[in-house]
Amino acid sequence: MKPGLTRREREVTDINEILRILDKAKIVHIGLIDGDEPYVVPMNYGYTYENEKLTLYLHGATEGKKLDIMRVNPKVFFSIECDVEPFSGSVACQYGTSYSSIMGKGKAVISETPEEKMQGLTFFMKTQTGLDFDFNERLVSAVSVIKIEVSEFTAKHRPKPINA
Ligand SMILES: Cc1cc2nc3c(=O)[nH]c(=O)nc-3n(C[C@H](O)[C@H](O)[C@H](O)COP(=O)(O)OP(=O)(O)OC[C@H]3O[C@@H](n4cnc5c(N)ncnc54)[C@H](O)[C@@H]3O)c2cc1C
Repeated sequence: MKPGLTRREREVTDINEILRILDKAKIVHIGLIDGDEPYVVPMNYGYTYENEKLTLYLHGATEGKKLDIMRVNPKVFFSIECDVEPFSGSVACQYGTSYSSIMGKGKAVISETPEEKMQGLTFFMKTQTGLDFDFNERLVSAVSVIKIEVSEFTAKHRPKPINA
């Protein structure tokens, strides 16, 4: 993890809180670089956090724009949020939204072997459902599995104001 938020008081560094956000959010926005154009795609994800290393796991069709882009440029930036709750006030500037979020960057690695795909899908389903599923080669041949090796990330929490 790399600190660096402008609003440092909102930075989340407690790993248990970071894991709670990762467990809860379920959706990641994956930012890619398509030549000189940005491309952002919302996706479900699974994750692992081992030896202080965060890895995200995505799955989808075996073809499409995001895969075409990743094959040329595997650089990824991602954004995840949960606990999103709008609040109000008596004047416009007292309105806002409380949230917990994680942003970071990494490298997309498209899984090549059935074993890699099965492992990635196991992590994916564990995060999405909390359950353990078994996969076989026939099942995984129909999907692509993408691993995002996260090189750095930050987490942030904006609380609801006491009076809101
Ligand atoms: C909450 C959520 C969760 C999702 N989870 C997954 C997931 O786990 N796995 C998965 O594969 N897909 C998921 N999707 C769908 C995903 O966003 C993409 O539509 C899909 O992955 C195809 O992406 P692609 O780059 O291959 O686009 P292509 O099918 O190649 O389409 C290319 C064009 O279609 C348009 N397009 C693509 N996706 C969208 C979109 N979501 N909304 C509007 N326009 C779009 C864009 O203009 C894009 O240029 C999810 C979508 C949402 C909203």
